Amino acid sequence: MNEEWDAAEHGGSEYDFENRMVAPEYVPEDAEVENPLRPKALSDYIGQEKVKENLAVFIEAARQRKESLDHVLLYGPPGLGKTTLAGIIANELGVNLRITSGPAIERPGDLAALLTNLNPGDVLFIDEIHRLSRSVEEILYPAMEDFAIDIITGKGQMAASYHLPLPRFTLVGATTRAGQISAPLRDRFGVVLRLELYTPEELARIVARSAKILEIPVEPEGALEIASRSRGTPRIANRMLKRVRDFAQVMSGGVITYESAKLGLDRLEVDEIGLDANDRRMLTTLIQFYNGGPVGLETLAAAVGEEAVTLEDVYEPYLMQIGFLSRTPRGRCATRAAYLHLGLTPPGEDGGGQQRLF
Ligand code: ADP
Repeated sequence: MNEEWDAAEHGGSEYDFENRMVAPEYVPEDAEVENPLRPKALSDYIGQEKVKENLAVFIEAARQRKESLDHVLLYGPPGLGKTTLAGIIANELGVNLRITSGPAIERPGDLAALLTNLNPGDVLFIDEIHRLSRSVEEILYPAMEDFAIDIITGKGQMAASYHLPLPRFTLVGATTRAGQISAPLRDRFGVVLRLELYTPEELARIVARSAKILEIPVEPEGALEIASRSRGTPRIANRMLKRVRDFAQVMSGGVITYESAKLGLDRLEVDEIGLDANDRRMLTTLIQFYNGGPVGLETLAAAVGEEAVTLEDVYEPYLMQIGFLSRTPRGRCATRAAYLHLGLTPPGEDGGGQQRLF
């Protein structure tokens, strides 16, 4: 599953996500809280109302017809609950869940072994499905469509082909990059669902639920403060909850209040809207060295001392999502909202012409 996530995803850059509080990717340290916190039923899964409504109908229909559920493709940024949903689907259907990931299935034989070991109705979850190799993908097509695989052994005159029927199963594929899934693979999913970033209110409910399970007393204002800084992502919210617990213990008798959450997250250098020191450094560089842009990605990367691919894959998506950064044909630009957030005057708003910082 997410453990398979590695630097290759980021084009081999050396981005150190393991030490980044606001990284949405799974790190081994998350396991301690993630496993007990995963909702097991659709009714425990907070937010994503449209996805839940659709899934509830499909699950109920499959149950009534006593058939396997159609294959489901989940897409959206890391940490939003794709793996969790796969587990819920299996639970609701009363079948087993097998978890693997695109990069973990190296050869067609690995996939064949997984498929032939499934029981009727089982859910097979393939995370990062866009990273399956071509040859593995080709085994998957007839498996999804006809519930059978053709295996060829030997070479030349010794070659033999075996047609192996499979039990009916449900494939749940997850990807952070829907655009990278090949059309033939995407077409074989009957249900395609997109997960959205969570609102602070939804995240506050997730924090409150998690705190209850972990027996950490939290005031509603404390939960909301953590939620507001979690970049719309439950994985980050749960990680912050765990870290803020330590500050609350020392500061406010173990109760997470607004003040202890604020102090804890300030100390961790995560600001009120979830930007960390790296995000702010990138924006400040763009504004102070390049007048807010436009500036080319490579130039900006050199100025902040990161690789271009890290900027593009790690920092930019969230900054663009919140409307702080825009990508134009001539380069990256900081928006008015970014200036205001950093306490700087946007160009042309200082009473005189263009603002000069240098
Ligand atoms: P993904 O597979 O999309 O990277 P996960 O399913 O591993 O994300 O979710 C990360 C963590 O966030 C899990 O520990 C899970 O408990 C929590 N989580 C995700 N979505 C929800 C939700 N809707 N309600 C409650 N907790 C959630």
